[in-house]
Amino acid sequence: MLAIRAPRAFDGARAVEGGATVMIHAGKIVGVEPAGIDLPDGTILIDHPDATILPGLIDSHVHLCADSIDGALDRLETYDDAQLDEVIDAALQRQLAAGVTTVRDLGDRRYAVVDRRDAGGEEVRPTIVASGPPITSVRGHCWNMGGEAAGVQALRLAVRERVDRGVDVIKIMASGGLLTLGTDATATQFSDDELETIVVEAHAAGLPVTAHAHARAAVEQVVRAGVDGIEHCSCLTATGVDAPVELLDRIAAQQIAVCPTLGTDPEIGPSPRVLELLTRMCVSRDDLLADVARFHASGVLLVGGSDAGISTGKPHGILAEALVEAAGCMPAAAVLAGATSIAARTCGLDDTKGRLRPGYDADLVVVDGDPLADMTDIRRVRQVVLAGSVVGDPLGQT
Ligand SMILES: [Zn+2]
Repeated sequence: MLAIRAPRAFDGARAVEGGATVMIHAGKIVGVEPAGIDLPDGTILIDHPDATILPGLIDSHVHLCADSIDGALDRLETYDDAQLDEVIDAALQRQLAAGVTTVRDLGDRRYAVVDRRDAGGEEVRPTIVASGPPITSVRGHCWNMGGEAAGVQALRLAVRERVDRGVDVIKIMASGGLLTLGTDATATQFSDDELETIVVEAHAAGLPVTAHAHARAAVEQVVRAGVDGIEHCSCLTATGVDAPVELLDRIAAQQIAVCPTLGTDPEIGPSPRVLELLTRMCVSRDDLLADVARFHASGVLLVGGSDAGISTGKPHGILAEALVEAAGCMPAAAVLAGATSIAARTCGLDDTKGRLRPGYDADLVVVDGDPLADMTDIRRVRQVVLAGSVVGDPLGQT
């Protein structure tokens, strides 16, 4: 038995009064006890005197095939399978070091991440939830991931192909994006009929659908179509950001999970291409953050995700910065729930991940300080426990 103890803990929804001793056996949490409890003989205790224990973090929006250097998505086309594998390896290790024990990959190439999810072996890496190549229009946003399709019948087949490949979620590109040249982030990419076809087909197969949507028109469209999640949800129009309250209310009422993909390395900032586009549209970071605060106030489910990998300012392992930014828009407990229990539900892992609770997977992160009081402490990763084993410490195995 392994016991991890700290004077503060967050259980996935709220602070645990007085901290906790998390008891771990055979990869599972078997008890969440008071910090001062006497331990049974033979228990290995790891005591963290000034730290906080949390469920392992979940980054709900990553691209493991992207190498964390500007132009990452443009380079995808040129990689052979061995190069893709190498990029995925490095991405997973950076995520794990940052306390991210589950990632939801929302766009790979040639199903490389789906295949990695299914690969056996002893690899120590985060749990993977994956969409495969996102479905996009011809030469639409991220077409270079290989998921172009046009017309109702082709889109139906595109969903079926992903179902056959065993994806966990269908990702669609409902608007243009900031990083694919020639696409328009303020415009839609599909008709209502096409989107409805995708959603009906995916739901019939038991899969959720999440939609990349920067354009407000695309957000309205995917809400009508009944998607389960919206990525970015920037609500861009030709003249800036505009998210009407009725739209937010509809998103909240339909319990659509919104991932605003915040988080950029403060030393580096967004990629030059993104900066230029936002400046041209007169959209500031503050406009986008103000909307995240309005989303929260409207009762929208917000999940933590970073779009990690797509640029130098958004490397793998950047989730902490997304949470720091979010903490400027909403209460800290809601931010942390969005990266643990709520994210787990969004990933379809509600029964196993995202909570300090007996029976759940023993994926934990221990950070110095108290992120509920100061979210920047979420950067201070002290220890990561994955499936009951302390990462990088042979003494902490269970
Ligand atoms: Zn993305």
